[in-house]
Amino acid sequence: MSSIKESAPTSESQGEKKYAKYIIQASSPHLEAAAARRGDLSKIDTPELHHFLALNNAVAPGAIMVNVSWVYAGEEPGEMGAHAHPYAEVIGFCGGDPKDADNLGAELELWMEDEKYMITKSCLIFVPSGVKHGPIIARNFTKNILHFDIQLTKGDFHIKV
Ligand SMILES: [Zn+2]
Repeated sequence: MSSIKESAPTSESQGEKKYAKYIIQASSPHLEAAAARRGDLSKIDTPELHHFLALNNAVAPGAIMVNVSWVYAGEEPGEMGAHAHPYAEVIGFCGGDPKDADNLGAELELWMEDEKYMITKSCLIFVPSGVKHGPIIARNFTKNILHFDIQLTKGDFHIKV
């Protein structure tokens, strides 16, 4: 009769476990991949973000691309230039006050093709494959804001301006 303890993995080291590579923590060596991603973005304007988590195919083989950043209250991070890519993307902006989560605490000017949207609430933006998006300009940050993007690709970040 085996106990739970006996059936548990023998290794307690994260590095020796089969799926440890899929658990991306802030201290993981993901920042090199993030730097490489930024290099791919050299053709367009990019905002200054406090990027702290990155998942992608280089960090975890087979993974899609996810980036998570903070913008701090009072900052002016600049804009993300207009671009398109041959895969869909989800862009999220979340106001950092859990007691007032709907309120973004900033103003977003978002362009989708030739349409302009002004957004002041926490939001998820779905960008279908091939749709030009941007510039995305964020202003008047009165709160810390959590920002993320999910690129539905297992490949590299590649853009068409
Ligand atoms: Zn994009």
